[in-house]
Amino acid sequence: MQPAGIYIHIPFCRTRCSYCDFATGAYDGALAERYVSALINEIRAFRLTEDALDVDTIYFGGGTPSLLSPAQVTCILEAAQERFRVEGSAEVTMEMNPGTVTLEGLREFRATGVNRASFGAQTFDDLELKRLGRTHTADDVRHTFALLREAGFANISFDLIAGLPAQTLDGWSRNLAEALALRPEHLSFYILEVHEGTPLAEQIRRGAERQPDDDLAAEMYRLMLQNSGAASYQHYEISNLCLPGYESRHNTKYWTGEAVYGFGCSAHSYDGRLMRWSNERDAARYTALVEARQTPVVETIELDERAARAESIFLGLRLMRGVNLKEYQARFGADLRAEYANDLTRLSEAGLIELDKDLLKLTTSGALLSNEVFLTFV
Ligand code: SF4
Repeated sequence: MQPAGIYIHIPFCRTRCSYCDFATGAYDGALAERYVSALINEIRAFRLTEDALDVDTIYFGGGTPSLLSPAQVTCILEAAQERFRVEGSAEVTMEMNPGTVTLEGLREFRATGVNRASFGAQTFDDLELKRLGRTHTADDVRHTFALLREAGFANISFDLIAGLPAQTLDGWSRNLAEALALRPEHLSFYILEVHEGTPLAEQIRRGAERQPDDDLAAEMYRLMLQNSGAASYQHYEISNLCLPGYESRHNTKYWTGEAVYGFGCSAHSYDGRLMRWSNERDAARYTALVEARQTPVVETIELDERAARAESIFLGLRLMRGVNLKEYQARFGADLRAEYANDLTRLSEAGLIELDKDLLKLTTSGALLSNEVFLTFV
């Protein structure tokens, strides 16, 4: 079995952005203290097997994990090292938001073992940042990037969002140019989705913000692939690009079906075979459950073979290298070509997928309409 990954959810942010529907809330020091203790206890109590499992990636996601102190991060990592066999060369990522860190703090995070920063730049346009309810400015993005390099981070990922209300292709092109000029090792690219119940959805409903334009967002996606390709970035997953050798090792586990154990509120886990489970979403309720020595797991799903096959196809298709039909046959004893013959013909004629010898891949149009392609296999 491949080494597993560990995901640690930190559900606190300075303020809440207008488009956000993640499990996160405003930072509360007292709750954060209790939450970190609960997290440590949940990791220590992990009992899938008696033997310690091998782990080669740890990912602090959120929320804004960089709001934790280096001492809190150290305690969480120590708990992980006590319960799992964490490889010395493990990739340890921390999501950070511009303006939430100092040079000294970054150096201390590096000293705890964090060696990759995933950095929520989003856009280099102050007006767009304001519209999103982000608390940082474009200058904060530039400054934080410089601080990360100065603190010794040699593996930095940028998040960028396209398809914002009132964003133009020219504006997006300027954002891209600035991001690429900084040469982060990795880029994650999202097209804005408007989620019901968020302030942004309400602003659009009231007419205070424009509904994002899907066709324009598709043009932005194509421009992103073109310009980043010209700058030597490899498009390796629908929403992710990197310089050679800098794929996110942790996130790749989700797409290749390797085990990832999640800790903290709303964290999801997968044992790499047939079991998935997830934790209580609310931070205060999660903390209270662990403090009361109850399980924070609120849902467990045992995949049947049909669901496992479907997952391996639609998660594998997220990777631009595609699904290997021979590996699929070896794992499930089934011929994917024969199983989905009519669907594959239809999707191929629509220009959404292509078969390259034994690899089934999305085309660029397929990547843009990936959810429709995936529905075929669910
Ligand atoms: S910083 Fe990220 S997680 Fe926090 S509120 Fe904004 S979008 Fe949500």
